[in-house]
Amino acid sequence: DLSHDVILYLDDITVSFDGFRALNKLSLAIDAGELRCIIGPNGAGKTTMMDVITGKTRPDEGKAFFGQTLDLTRMSEPEIAHAGIGRKFQKPTVFEQHTVFENLELAMKADKRVRRSLFARLTAEEGDRIAAVLERIRLAGAADRSAGLLSHGQKQWLEIGMLLMQEPKLLLLDEPVAGMTDDETERTAELFVSLAGEHSLVVVEHDMAFVEALGGKVTVLHEGSVLAEGDLAAVQNDQRVIEVYLGR
Ligand code: ADP
Repeated sequence: DLSHDVILYLDDITVSFDGFRALNKLSLAIDAGELRCIIGPNGAGKTTMMDVITGKTRPDEGKAFFGQTLDLTRMSEPEIAHAGIGRKFQKPTVFEQHTVFENLELAMKADKRVRRSLFARLTAEEGDRIAAVLERIRLAGAADRSAGLLSHGQKQWLEIGMLLMQEPKLLLLDEPVAGMTDDETERTAELFVSLAGEHSLVVVEHDMAFVEALGGKVTVLHEGSVLAEGDLAAVQNDQRVIEVYLGR
C-alpha cells in the first residue's frame, strides 16, 4: 500500500544464527514522520531488527527498503548512515573531555556529506545550526560545560543532538530512557514528539510509561515476527500479547 509515504519497509526478513531464527519473516512498515515504538520480551529480535536496518547484519531472506527505492540489504553500514539513518545505542557515547558545543561541532564536521576539516572555522550558518540543536536538546545553558560533567540524561540528549547534526531522516533509538530520572524521561518524550514529523523515529523501549507518553503506534515483536500492532492500549489488551508477557 503506497497511498501514504512509507520511509522504511521490511519485507519478510529472516535472520538465522546457527539455524535459530532471530527474525522470522518479519514485515513492518514505518510512515514518514512516524514515531513508532517497538516492544517485546528479551530475545524477541528487536536488536537484530535494528542491526538489519543499519546494515550490521545481512538477512538470509527478505528485503529492507528505505524510502521508495533504496534496498538496505545491499548497502554497507556507512552507506546507510550516509543515506540518512542514525542509530543511538543504549549507553551514551559522547566525547567527555570536550564541551557540549564541541561535541555537536565534531558531529557536524564528521558528517561525510560535509567533509569539513576539524580545524575549519564555523560559518555563521553552522553556528546557527548548532545553537538550534542546543535549544532542542535543552542544553543551551550548558554549551561550554565538559560533556563528562553532564547527568546521564543530559549525555543521552547530547548524543541525540550529535545525531541531529547529521540531519537523519530516520532515527533508531535503543532504550533511550533507561537509567533516566522521571523528569528526564518526561523531557525525552517531549523531545521525541517534537522531532516526529520532521524525522521518523523507531524506538525500542521497555518503559511502558514512556511508550504511553510517546503516544504513537506500537509494534510487539515476539520470536522474530510481529505479534501485534496498534496503539498501546490496544496491544496491551491483546490476549496473545498478555500471554507472551505473563508466560515468562
Ligand atoms: P532482543 O533485542 O529483542 O532482546 P535480539 O535481537 O538481541 O533480541 O536476539 C534475538 C535472538 O537471537 C536471541 O535469542 C539471541 O540470543 C539471538 N541472537 C542474537 N544475536 C545473535 C548472534 N550474533 N549469534 C547467535 N544468536 C544471536
